[in-house]
Amino acid sequence: DLTGQVAIITGSTSGIGAAMAEALAANGCHIILNGLGDASEIESLRAKIASDHGVEVRYHPANMLKPDEIADMVASAEREFGRLDILLSNAGIQHVSPVEDFPAEKWDAIIAINLTSVFHAAKAAIPVMKRQGKGRIVNLASAHGLVASPFKSAYVAAKHGVMGFTKTLGLELAEDGITCNAICPGYVKTPLVENQIADTAKARGITEDEVVRDVMLAAQPTKKFVTYEQLAGALLYLVSDAGANMNGSWISVDGGWTAK
Ligand code: NAD
Repeated sequence: DLTGQVAIITGSTSGIGAAMAEALAANGCHIILNGLGDASEIESLRAKIASDHGVEVRYHPANMLKPDEIADMVASAEREFGRLDILLSNAGIQHVSPVEDFPAEKWDAIIAINLTSVFHAAKAAIPVMKRQGKGRIVNLASAHGLVASPFKSAYVAAKHGVMGFTKTLGLELAEDGITCNAICPGYVKTPLVENQIADTAKARGITEDEVVRDVMLAAQPTKKFVTYEQLAGALLYLVSDAGANMNGSWISVDGGWTAK
């Protein structure tokens, strides 16, 4: 039961972030949504989560490329709710290409959004959580935070970086009542994954059906996409009181991928 708690979920206008916002709201948590997208679609999502679950839902438009905007998003939790209990850093982008063709600006954007924004958000949230003597920082990493795949150099580098940052924060905050952990999903069928099916087909010279069967689900021994409900289960454990002594660690929800 998270009644009265306040959560920020970066990149929650789509996919996993939107589903995790919904799961936290369903447990009584007030929500700050964040992410890019069409203003009226974001407003419908905001209003729907609020009315479905009877919690306050706000939207902050911080661009994860802009440290000042990230700091303002975190400050908005204190401004509007007087507290911040949960920070889920989830915003992320992908680009699939061999290294020698990898556009340098894509590398920079992936490192900035998938890794550096996680630092800026945590940096701003820690003083608030320290004052409360309690907090939960959860980073949405990936199986690619633990193992690599070809053609995803920037993404794999950023997600490995998130894992290192998660462990470091776990140590730094261990005596402050704040935990920091990661969730490492395998493939989840979100817009991010739908969009990379075509690119992966091109990079590997195979059809889109072959990408799903032979590349994506081949990596996942269960041969099933990970669902939002399965990720919500991991998140709700990490933010619960039962999760208080899990720290600087991660939960893999990858159908066995990283057991290989
Ligand atoms: P998605 O594309 O559906 O959602 C990404 C979200 O990030 C969107 O809300 C988008 O607006 C936001 N975003 C992108 N750039 C931003 C920016 N500059 N500023 C603010 N917000 C920005 O993707 P998803 O699949 O739901 O991915 C969510 C997270 O889960 C990512 O970190 C991704 O790496 C990770 N992940 C996804 C999968 C998967 O299979 N889908 C697997 C493992 C990890």
